[in-house]
Amino acid sequence: MSRTPYIAANWKMNKTVAEAAQFIDTLLPRIAATQSDVVVCPPFTALAAVVERRYGTAVKVAAQNMHEEESGAFTGEISAPMLVELDVEAVVLGHSERRQFFGETDEALARKVPAALAADLEPILCVGESEEARDGGETEAVLERQLQTDLAGVDPVALSRVVIAYEPIWAIGTGRVATPEQAQEACACIRDVVRLRGAAADQIRILYGGSVKPGNAAEILSQPDVDGALVGGAALDPEDFAAIVEAAG
Ligand code: PEP
Repeated sequence: MSRTPYIAANWKMNKTVAEAAQFIDTLLPRIAATQSDVVVCPPFTALAAVVERRYGTAVKVAAQNMHEEESGAFTGEISAPMLVELDVEAVVLGHSERRQFFGETDEALARKVPAALAADLEPILCVGESEEARDGGETEAVLERQLQTDLAGVDPVALSRVVIAYEPIWAIGTGRVATPEQAQEACACIRDVVRLRGAAADQIRILYGGSVKPGNAAEILSQPDVDGALVGGAALDPEDFAAIVEAAG
């Protein structure tokens, strides 16, 4: 089955509103002909500006995190209805930087993924192993454990609306990209786990993330189970990001 490629730009804590607007204005003409889903994940402060600029284009906008409750005493947090009100369509959940630096747990993700789906936000769920786990031959076990917990509350039909990003921690922001074979193996493993949950595994988009650049994107994206990329560093430059979108075909 052919799946529409999905290329997402994770800006992390980068870009002011003015810089975000400039990026979008440069990017849009460069990707006008793409058939892929192109997603931009700005910091919260730039979401509205990016949403405003992409109206009438194929670009979707995603937040980088959200809280599972709709409202309440959670200082500093943002909820799904707040994102939906801005016309944000998707949300990154479980990025390894949130797991590593901000105490994001699989148990919290088990609440966040259904909350996003209930609000009609497309979750981009990130999973991935540490270097120690890979060296210890535990990659598949780690992926299975994360997916089983994070997706525990999602029924098989809703599961086909989740985008899953395989992001090996050792490849994120390090310049050390997984080989196309490693990316393929891990994405195939993720598809198998999803299939065992009874979901339409052939429909689910599974992305690779970790030091994707214009020079290595095409080879990684040509793998049969790699349906797109979640791009950090190289997504800060609109020309580089456009080149990665082009590599997806
Ligand atoms: C990311 O932040 O999700 C990521 C993959 O970053 P980078 O492309 O810089 O490795």
